[in-house]
Amino acid sequence: MTIKVIPVEGLPLIRKGDDIPALTCERFGFEDGDILVLASTIYSKAKGFTRRLADIRPSEQAERIAKRDREDPRFVQSVLDEAKDVLLEHPFILSELPFGHIGVRSGVDRSNIEDGMVILLPPDPMGGAREIREAIRARTGKDVGVIITDTCGRAFRRGQTGNAVGWAGFPAIRDYRNDTDLFGHVLLITEEAVVDEIAGFANFVMGESHQGIPAAVFRGCGRWTGHDDLYFRPAEDIIRKAVGVYVAGTGKKK
Ligand code: GDP
Ligand code: MN
Ligand code: MN
Repeated sequence: MTIKVIPVEGLPLIRKGDDIPALTCERFGFEDGDILVLASTIYSKAKGFTRRLADIRPSEQAERIAKRDREDPRFVQSVLDEAKDVLLEHPFILSELPFGHIGVRSGVDRSNIEDGMVILLPPDPMGGAREIREAIRARTGKDVGVIITDTCGRAFRRGQTGNAVGWAGFPAIRDYRNDTDLFGHVLLITEEAVVDEIAGFANFVMGESHQGIPAAVFRGCGRWTGHDDLYFRPAEDIIRKAVGVYVAGTGKKK
């Protein structure tokens, strides 16, 4: 299997109202089976999922967290406003978003946007990925999969990697259960998070700072079967349970 990863060059600074599928199709010739990976940052900017810090009035909780972590209380409030559940307040906010993602500071960013503004994760990234896939199909007639990513920290290891927050056109997970290994053993638990593997390498191609590459296309990934159940349910999530013993939204030990 040979996979090509092609950055989409020459995209402008994205502003509210910009048509990402149109801008992408003008700069890239899609083929059937391609996977377009987009940084959530530009999807959110195009859709106006941004906020002005000056418009935000911090709550007592935001003031308290901000003081302890030396953050801007308005930024902390923007993080709390995105969270369905706060798992950790300190040394950073770790929160669950309504669409299922758990991330540091609710995935709210202050980079790659003007001073005084923040970028939020899209509230429905699955819907966003579907919408972009359909728009590309309408423009080009091509069957293109889409992944919307964010750069995320990880448990147990230093360093951030790209994670998929929305996808369309294929299942998130390749299910290896019941497949046999080289020695005929039946695999019982292996489920491969393919969307995160692709998101991770796309993140490498995009960079994190001034590269100006918010989109990359993967060609030659082939097809896989599996399911979309990427997020643990709270009852299955042992790390979440362990974190919750100490804080569960209050900043105090239970
Ligand atoms: P995130 O991982 O979704 O939070 O996005 P990043 O802020 O890490 O940006 C990923 C890549 O997209 C980097 O190469 C940025 O320079 C680039 N980028 C961010 N915003 C824009 C934009 O509006 N236009 C262009 N052309 N590139 C952008
Ligand atoms: Mn981000
Ligand atoms: Mn990034």
